[in-house]
Amino acid sequence: MSENAVNTGQQEDPRAALWPNYSPPDGLIFTHGKGSELFTESGDSYLDCLSGIAVTSFGHSHPHLVNALTEQASKLWHLSNVFRIPAAEQLARRLVANSFADSVFFANSGTEAIEAGLKAMRGFHAAQGNEERFRIIGFTESFHGRTIAALAAAGNNSHMQNFVPTDYGFDQVEWENLDALKSTIGSNTAGIVLETIQGEGGIRPVSKSFLQAVRNLCDEHGLLLMVDEVQCGVGRSGNLFAYESYGIRPDVMALAKGLGGGFPIGVCLSTQEVGQTMVVGTHGSTFGGNPLAAVVGNAVLDLMLEDGLLDSVKSKGQFFGEKIEQLIAKYPDAIESVHGQGLMLGIKCKVPNTDVLVKLRDNKLLVGKSGSNMIRLLPPLNISQEHIEKAISILDVTLAEFKE
Ligand SMILES: *Cc1c(COP(=O)(O)O)cnc(C)c1O
Repeated sequence: MSENAVNTGQQEDPRAALWPNYSPPDGLIFTHGKGSELFTESGDSYLDCLSGIAVTSFGHSHPHLVNALTEQASKLWHLSNVFRIPAAEQLARRLVANSFADSVFFANSGTEAIEAGLKAMRGFHAAQGNEERFRIIGFTESFHGRTIAALAAAGNNSHMQNFVPTDYGFDQVEWENLDALKSTIGSNTAGIVLETIQGEGGIRPVSKSFLQAVRNLCDEHGLLLMVDEVQCGVGRSGNLFAYESYGIRPDVMALAKGLGGGFPIGVCLSTQEVGQTMVVGTHGSTFGGNPLAAVVGNAVLDLMLEDGLLDSVKSKGQFFGEKIEQLIAKYPDAIESVHGQGLMLGIKCKVPNTDVLVKLRDNKLLVGKSGSNMIRLLPPLNISQEHIEKAISILDVTLAEFKE
């Protein structure tokens, strides 16, 4: 049908042709962005402390990223992995050199990176003749994405309802409940998956003692440990990868969001023992590791690995956190605590988090929501001191609006 055929002359819902699974605010359309700011067509500017949910790590239209993408766009967009893609090989080598991993698989999103990891954990045991070891343990309040297996791994009933009717080989354990974890591990357990810092369920870093205990249990029972760093990885926590501050090494890790700076990319990293079992025919992706994504991923790493960048994420996060503590003291009836690491911050609200988010947006500060009645601050990692102070002052005037 042509556009005209559906245009009856009446006021039309411009979103009628979309599934209603998202409901963005009417009348707010951003046409361009620069650094930490987004602009509407009429020139209104908003301070972006959401970053497309931890995606635009270096803000909008960063010249180094724009150059990488446009230069590649005029040469070669797509090839398929049936041919070598040197930029993807280079990105893989850099990820391996800077992490626990020995090899990687490229996908296009976080969920796909998770899926690859879940398959690899099962494939690893199967390759040793232990096909019965297929069950994977996940934790409550987790989020691993929206495909069937990712839903099953997270075990969030509201997300699974109508979509995951039967047992897909996943077990759920209460977050940080070590006794429950021990009693759930069985002879058919393949591995354990957790977010190093939970994002959607509430900004909640796993405790050091729990993650170390999980690592020990994995070693004891021959299980694989997979960390989901789709949101908290790639600099967001103030380390390149959040697991680094825990004194452990995972066997598998999923990354996505921030790695592409806004261009879709996902990657599953693993040890040699796990990766080598994913031989020809076991897994694949048409678009994964395409030249555009690969050059942008490399350009993001150029910026991420610059001297001082990660330290600045830590100190900015520290400053943000201290300022939020002051706001908690000033508005104890509106907000109660601050959570997170680096520039992945959650503010637990006493008033409904949606009300805070909407009022902040009215005052031109964009933030996200998270579980446990939190609002989520995920500013660009290169946000300026001036913009941090502006965000704090918008939070200040907005929280004052909740005072009766
Ligand atoms: C966003 C997210 C995912 C899913 O990533 P998509 O790119 O939306 O598929 C998985 N795990 C975590 C922790 C996430 O935050």
